[in-house]
Amino acid sequence: MRSIYKTPDELKMMLPAGVLTAQALDAVEAAIRPGISTLELDAIAERVIREAGGVPNFQLVDGYHHTVCASVNDVVVHGIPNDTPLVAGDIVSIDCGALLGGWNGDSARTIIVPEADGQDASGHPRGDDWVREAHRVSNATREVMWHGIAAVATARHMNDIGGAIEDAIAEQPGPLGNLENYTGHGIGRNMHEEPTVFNYRVRRRGPVVRAGLAICIEPMLTAGKPDVLVDDDEWSVRAADGTPSAHWEHTVIRHANGIWVTTAHDGGAAGLAPFGITPIAP
Ligand code: MG
Ligand code: MG
Repeated sequence: MRSIYKTPDELKMMLPAGVLTAQALDAVEAAIRPGISTLELDAIAERVIREAGGVPNFQLVDGYHHTVCASVNDVVVHGIPNDTPLVAGDIVSIDCGALLGGWNGDSARTIIVPEADGQDASGHPRGDDWVREAHRVSNATREVMWHGIAAVATARHMNDIGGAIEDAIAEQPGPLGNLENYTGHGIGRNMHEEPTVFNYRVRRRGPVVRAGLAICIEPMLTAGKPDVLVDDDEWSVRAADGTPSAHWEHTVIRHANGIWVTTAHDGGAAGLAPFGITPIAP
């Protein structure tokens, strides 16, 4: 069994895949607008990854054939891209990963589809309250992700990270449903490796957090209750109460001198600043 701890050289080799994953998400974010479909966004992400010599690592997952997961509105995670045009106010979580040089990146962002330029704000079909809740749940999910990433710098055991995320969720305004049975993970030569990264406290303290760890922190929240249903497509994980839902994710490494977010262009500097943490490249 391979160790969950990478060597300093191995951690360095993970950086290009992280940057490419960020670039694919940048391209999706720049293209998202009313009328575009998630299948078109998927093609944009695939082009960015392949033109750089990478491989969309989601296509290496058994039974999955796309570059991104696109989870719209009450779908929390694992939504399959389709040809339905997006409308302003839709909340879209795009999860994407690249394999480059034998190493993986994995990251997700949630985007509220903006109004098209010059178009009257007609509002989302589900109304203004929907859009407000969409922003609330996305902001909360991004915020608690950064709490989890910051905890990688100081945690002694993996369970400290889940605890930091759980505590941060409790500090956020309004109801939030923290998904059970869906977790973050280790990452390296494979996109999904040990250890499991829970978004809440569990009974075991988990593996030691120390130099060499490379993990994905990925909270998944609904704007209501944590109960979810899986669609007949056997992938899409949908909030049972139909509330808008969000998913944010970054790949983060801990090395001898600090932490670095491989899937953020600034290594996580902006997100970690409120915690007094300056990321250091490995
Ligand atoms: Mg992901
Ligand atoms: Mg992941």
